[in-house]
Amino acid sequence: MSGYHGHEDTSAVKAEYSHELPKTPADAAFLASQEGKIRVSMIGLVGCWGCTLSLLDVDERLFSLLDKITILRSSLTDIKRIPGRCAVGFVEGGVGSDENIETLEHFRENCDVLISVGACAIWGGVPSLRNTLSVADCLKEAYIDSASTVAGVIPIIPDHPDLPKITSKIYPCHEVVKMDYFLPGCPPDGDAIFKVLDDLVNGRPIDLPTSMNRYD
Ligand code: SF4
Repeated sequence: MSGYHGHEDTSAVKAEYSHELPKTPADAAFLASQEGKIRVSMIGLVGCWGCTLSLLDVDERLFSLLDKITILRSSLTDIKRIPGRCAVGFVEGGVGSDENIETLEHFRENCDVLISVGACAIWGGVPSLRNTLSVADCLKEAYIDSASTVAGVIPIIPDHPDLPKITSKIYPCHEVVKMDYFLPGCPPDGDAIFKVLDDLVNGRPIDLPTSMNRYD
């Protein structure tokens, strides 16, 4: 499988991305309460959100960390852009569009440590099954020959300048930007994510024992 070498045709890249949209000013009192905390973010690219749910599997232990960390961009907070530099960024999912590429590159620029979470981020996972097909064949299968196509309705393939441009294949994150750590699994255990956060909060180098890794 060939790697990503920046060759994807992104000539039709949109001029504006979600993290570039005007942001609503955060509450000043809230911002003051977050001063000095370790900033953490998590983004989802092409995945199923199962890895993001593993973050929730940290359960009540997350509360014990919240006096030391603050979670910025994430599906928990619904923050669409990183409002400041983060100590650590978790990434779920592989890279499958021009917007994914730009989002991941922006995340890389704004996170000290970047971690691929789960099989999709690490090697493409289930979404990379499409790598054996052309984009045209994938779209045809999804929108024209789909089992959910409604009889009597003319099927169309969505095509609009505002839609992200699909890349020719799903790329693992490390083929697009440098990733610092890998948390294998589909999804990884919440325990592994908690271990990373706990190391971070306590000023230890991130050190995940092999026994905490999952490969199923
Ligand atoms: S690795 Fe598994 S759980 Fe995580 S996003 Fe991919 S399919 Fe979902």
